[in-house]
Amino acid sequence: MQLKNSKELFSKAKHFIPGGVNSPVRAFKAVGGDPVFIKSAKGAFLYDEDGNEYIELINSWGPMFLGHAHEIIEEAVAKAIGSSLSFGAPTRREVEMAELITSIVPSIDKVRMVNSGTEATMSAVRLARGYTGKDKIIKFEGCYHGHGDSFLIAAGSGAATMGVPDSPGVTEGTARDTLTAPFNDLETVKQLASANRDEIAAIIIEPVAGNMGCVLPDAGFLEGLRTLCDDENIVLIFDEVMTGFRLAPGGAQQVLGVTPDMTTLGKIIGGGMPVGAYGGKKEIMDFVSPEGPVYQAGTLSGNPVAMAAGFAILDHLHKNQQIYQEADAVSTRIVEGIRKNLQALGLNYTINHIGSMFSLFFTDEKVRDFESARMSDTYLFADYFKKMLEKGIYLAPSQFEALFISHAITDDIADRIIEVNFQVLSSMHK
Ligand SMILES: *Cc1c(COP(=O)(O)O)cnc(C)c1O
Repeated sequence: MQLKNSKELFSKAKHFIPGGVNSPVRAFKAVGGDPVFIKSAKGAFLYDEDGNEYIELINSWGPMFLGHAHEIIEEAVAKAIGSSLSFGAPTRREVEMAELITSIVPSIDKVRMVNSGTEATMSAVRLARGYTGKDKIIKFEGCYHGHGDSFLIAAGSGAATMGVPDSPGVTEGTARDTLTAPFNDLETVKQLASANRDEIAAIIIEPVAGNMGCVLPDAGFLEGLRTLCDDENIVLIFDEVMTGFRLAPGGAQQVLGVTPDMTTLGKIIGGGMPVGAYGGKKEIMDFVSPEGPVYQAGTLSGNPVAMAAGFAILDHLHKNQQIYQEADAVSTRIVEGIRKNLQALGLNYTINHIGSMFSLFFTDEKVRDFESARMSDTYLFADYFKKMLEKGIYLAPSQFEALFISHAITDDIADRIIEVNFQVLSSMHK
């Protein structure tokens, strides 16, 4: 495979952009080697600057659920562009978008549009603090909520330990207000809540985690958080930036049957444009400025072109809900195919799967939290990643990401993925 143009672009990029990329995971650091520069994409295929073709299993980290350059979205954007790119004033489309979101996600009475998932989670936590008059939050190890200061906290040693910053630049004060617990560990959350009674504003969680690889909640875990939040007057925030409109029209909360107080959205709701949103119960959302005292604003929030793209994809999904069953069926086909490959090769690696998200972990152990996810052999993953890429399959360049199936992946493409998976796994285990 020829990658000359990508290599040249990357070495040039490193002179002008930190690390050569505008978001760290794109640099392939976790797997080694240089990133591929993408020129275009259509449906289930990506094309790089050297003319190589790849089957797409990242889909811009989630948003391109219908596949690339889908005509419904392209047309909506083209139409919007003709009426100017931004006004900074209210528009009809924003009202329609909010009405659509609130009608699809029952737990959202009111919603505020922002420009990214990070903005959504930052704003949701500020609002929860303003609403409850409390400062601390609980998050879970291995969950990612964007790059807001409060979320870049690793667990200290021992559950009740105060957080320590994960990144230089996050102050100790901020870290102190973020408590962390292992995913699926309700006992630790209960202990944190009782050791910090009347101090916890919010619990924020990915109801299905996708940022340590795909990790599912155990039965009763989210229900336990719900009860705890009710008892302790804590705002339960589901970060559905990844799972929203992916696992079901109503997101993970619909699939799992647990209702949060607030929800954060992003990725799919922009259809590929930079969009995020946070919403929830009316009495909480009415605390947001200008209705309430909690300030949050954005020059380009609810941008007309972004809203056109977002509305187009959500409306299309809403009117064609069989898309979910079809994407799930193709995902199941791929996952079952990979399981058969593993069996045939006498391998016992773990696959976690729900709907159109899955991860293959290079460990024989069950993966149910960040600690067990880290048992995966990341050297094997790196080898797997590179070999898959060479054979034209573009996976997320890290073990700790979920893979996303788009609706553009047909059974034939799925079978190609399974076949390449077999070739690669067998070459790794000769
Ligand atoms: C991607 C993601 C974010 C951050 O969204 P950005 O648009 O990258 O800022 C937040 N939470 C979750 C669960 C995500 O997957």
